[in-house]
Amino acid sequence: MSRPLDPTSQQLAQRLNVQAAVVEVRKSTSLSPYLHEVVLGGNAALGGEPGNDVMVLVHDNEGRPTRRRYSVRHRDDEENTITLWVATNHDGPGAQWARTCQPGDEVDVVGPRGKITLDAVADWHLFIGDTTGLASFYRMAQAIEVPGKAIFIVEVDTMDDARTATFDEGLGVTGIFVERQGRDYHDPTGLLTGLSAFDFPEHLGQAYLFAEFSVVKTIAVALRDRGLSDEQIRTKSFYRTGRANAGNGEPEKD
Ligand SMILES: Cc1cc2nc3c(=O)[nH]c(=O)nc-3n(C[C@H](O)[C@H](O)[C@H](O)COP(=O)(O)OP(=O)(O)OC[C@H]3O[C@@H](n4cnc5c(N)ncnc54)[C@H](O)[C@@H]3O)c2cc1C
Repeated sequence: MSRPLDPTSQQLAQRLNVQAAVVEVRKSTSLSPYLHEVVLGGNAALGGEPGNDVMVLVHDNEGRPTRRRYSVRHRDDEENTITLWVATNHDGPGAQWARTCQPGDEVDVVGPRGKITLDAVADWHLFIGDTTGLASFYRMAQAIEVPGKAIFIVEVDTMDDARTATFDEGLGVTGIFVERQGRDYHDPTGLLTGLSAFDFPEHLGQAYLFAEFSVVKTIAVALRDRGLSDEQIRTKSFYRTGRANAGNGEPEKD
């Protein structure tokens, strides 16, 4: 029997017209130096569809509650679980929670959230960003109907963080991983280099860009310069250098 939901989680879910549940940590595994996998059991529906994320209620060092958003890497309806991939390359309540949570821990989760899902008509899909985007990128790519193309341009802190995934046979997959080599998180150089190494395929493409606030701005311009229209570029800032995300899990926009 799980503990009751925090009333603020219930209110938030009502306002957003989504679900809220107390779920249980089933597994917590370090995948690589800076990527942690957390499997949460009890309500797979929180995971929505590929591209969606959830809001996790965590606590800062003073015990103050705040919410952090994490894309759903995998939804398993049989096991009634959702899986998250959390970047732990920095200090913050979300990263701390992922690093330290144990099987049996309970946590409030609100979801599904997010408006960016897979474009059904595109012939090729470019997933570009950093480690924080991997969960969403792979889940969306695994939903592409064959024949189709998925291209990943991802900046990682270490090459060991360049986790891969398996895809349907017949899907054309290109992966370009760029090692950060100590560059700042708001430095777009790595992704610009990765992008310049890639020739866009023919036909209709769709880009999904999830990364640090100012990197998103620069890379969106670079994608436009390469000929994509605004409609072909879906962007979301996931965090902002030097500033904690707000209590709603979003980076500040000003
Ligand atoms: C819709 C959405 C989906 C997301 N999905 C994922 C996901 O699947 N996996 C994932 O790992 N993250 C994801 N994020 C990003 C994640 O929510 C943020 O990185 C968040 O700031 C982490 O919270 P925190 O408490 O660890 O750090 P915060 O308290 O927010 O920040 C503390 C400090 O760490 C820095 N910081 C925060 N995140 C990072 C980072 N990733 N790299 C470097 N420095 C950082 C901040 O600039 C700040 O200085 C998503 C964000 C959104 C909005």
